[in-house]
Amino acid sequence: MSSTTKLAVPNVVLQSSFSMPVIGFGTASETNDGDTVKAAALEAIKLGYRHFDTASCYGSEQALGEAIAEALKLGLISSRDELFITSKLWLSDNHPHLVLPALQKSLQNLGLEYLDLYLVHCPMSAKPEIRKFFYKEDEFVPFDLKGVWASMEQCHNLGLTKSIGVSNFSTQKLEDLLSFATIPPAVNQVELNLSWQQRNLREYCKAKGIMVTAYSPLGANGTSWGSNDVMDSEVLKHIAHVHGKTIAQVSLRWLYEQGVTFAVKSYNKERMKQNLEIFDFSLINDDYQKINQIKQERKVKNGPAGFDVADLLWDGEN
Ligand code: NAP
Repeated sequence: MSSTTKLAVPNVVLQSSFSMPVIGFGTASETNDGDTVKAAALEAIKLGYRHFDTASCYGSEQALGEAIAEALKLGLISSRDELFITSKLWLSDNHPHLVLPALQKSLQNLGLEYLDLYLVHCPMSAKPEIRKFFYKEDEFVPFDLKGVWASMEQCHNLGLTKSIGVSNFSTQKLEDLLSFATIPPAVNQVELNLSWQQRNLREYCKAKGIMVTAYSPLGANGTSWGSNDVMDSEVLKHIAHVHGKTIAQVSLRWLYEQGVTFAVKSYNKERMKQNLEIFDFSLINDDYQKINQIKQERKVKNGPAGFDVADLLWDGEN
């Protein structure tokens, strides 16, 4: 693929009936500065990314919005409708009366009239007056899922987001949500990679028509919240070598073959390109036998708190 060739990424159809490109461009980074995010997102559009994953807590909404405006100006896309934009409701806004204003603020940051997907970022609420990324244990307050979801449905009904969904929801929490939801969640975005394959959750979501989007699909190597275990795996190194691909490409191809979507973050042009080049090979039985033996352990441990929130989020589920 030449540096100017745009690669077409396949879509899946969500139960909300909207299409979502399988590959999303992640924008979570500890060092998000506007110029870097804008340049990376613009480059991503040139390369063929059409699905962008942001959140009010990432500090990337505004720069992504500027990249979209620039892409329109340059004619890289002819309409905003060609893009699939996801953003997320942060913990301090995870209260029924704060959902709509939070979405309006995200739209304002992005310079958009609607989102394609708005997600409840975590099934946890923090005190509204405390807005930050890492919370202390005593800054959390009880989460009113029913009230928050009713407000999410209102956002959808107002036309401010085409689909609504959740993130970091266990099967138990999804079961709870589905017991009263008028609009079921279209997506559950969770940690999912070769070291945390989430079979139960994937099967449950498939049965309920909820599309899974994998975050940290490479294990979030090189970040403070993730681990290098996926990218350093000897098993994956061997599989990658056999296919003449990289470990990242094998990891992303496996996700694609599982029928899920994913958001992968790179601000490096070569790696951005590499992460799109997963449609010209397939994993074989022998690869799957090896993959099934990879030790399973959650890799993203330092969630939105200065302590490990896995037990709070996952009810001990694996
Ligand atoms: P990730 O995509 O698994 O890994 C990102 C790391 O991998 C970066 O350090 C990146 O560095 C590196 N990388 C990317 N492509 C590579 C390649 N081909 N070879 C080698 N290294 C590569 O982890 P993530 O950022 O945690 O997850 C992806 C996205 O999911 C996020 O950006 C965010 O949008 C979303 N997310 C959502 C949640 C949630 O709670 N809903 C949580 C975490 C993440 P370079 O940039 O230097 O290439």
